[in-house]
Amino acid sequence: MAVRPLKLPLLICLSLLVAIASVVIGVSKADALQAMLKPNTPALGDTVSVWIATNQSSGIAPTVTSDRKIFPVFAMSPNRWRAFIPTTPLDRAGLRQVIVTGDGLSQTLAMQLGDREFPTQSIWLNDANGGLEPTDYEWDKVSAFKKLVTPQKFWKGAFVRPNDGEITTGYGVRRYYNGEFANDYYHRGVDYAGGYGSPVVAPAAGYVRLVGTVAQGFRLHGNTIGLDHGQGVASIFLHLSEIYVKEEDFVQAGQVIGAIGATGAATGPHLHWGLYVNGEAIDPVVWRYEGLE
Ligand SMILES: [Zn+2]
Repeated sequence: MAVRPLKLPLLICLSLLVAIASVVIGVSKADALQAMLKPNTPALGDTVSVWIATNQSSGIAPTVTSDRKIFPVFAMSPNRWRAFIPTTPLDRAGLRQVIVTGDGLSQTLAMQLGDREFPTQSIWLNDANGGLEPTDYEWDKVSAFKKLVTPQKFWKGAFVRPNDGEITTGYGVRRYYNGEFANDYYHRGVDYAGGYGSPVVAPAAGYVRLVGTVAQGFRLHGNTIGLDHGQGVASIFLHLSEIYVKEEDFVQAGQVIGAIGATGAATGPHLHWGLYVNGEAIDPVVWRYEGLE
């Protein structure tokens, strides 16, 4: 199930309606909609939680928009809601507005997105190692997986480490290719240098929604597993030697799902774990150590 962003004209209509409604209702219901951002001062790569309290009994979810995008909102308890706004190294640091509407009211929150320095790598490509592109089949399967937003929440608490190996390349590393800065590239995950064949475990519970193999055309990602943790949160595991699960299996946190390999575009055995929120690869560190609800 894919959720597509609403078109801008509709948003403007909605905003107008909300603005009119706010004037009509006046300030007497001003406390009917309360919203806050967590963390208060996010930096590039952080997942920003928008927590919303409403008084409505209709059960209709509030809406959250920012930067002309609309973000899925989920009920966490009666009249309590949460949305995730993913940020990445490709975002621009600075002030951004987050608009929350619900109960016929609207609230605008100021999100001050802090800058962050990421390490860089220099890669020198030649004809032998350059130009490895994903196949259409691979691209379509992975794109569809990253668009999944399912209403249930399958994860609970902090995510567990997916492999015992040491981290060789962290999240967000930027690259120069043949001396030129790659504006669209950042390392969309974390690399673990576990030994060949060492176990890869699910960092959190979820449904297996993607299994791709080199034999089927996964020439860039290699043997791949995609886990849907629910509510727009998903993990992808690349370059595997073995896959022990199949699509639609439900796995628990800590369950062995595959083994480290060097399939696809990998120079040696390692696990690439990417954690996606609403289709964007975010920094998993806070998910690993604090956990987000
Ligand atoms: Zn990687």
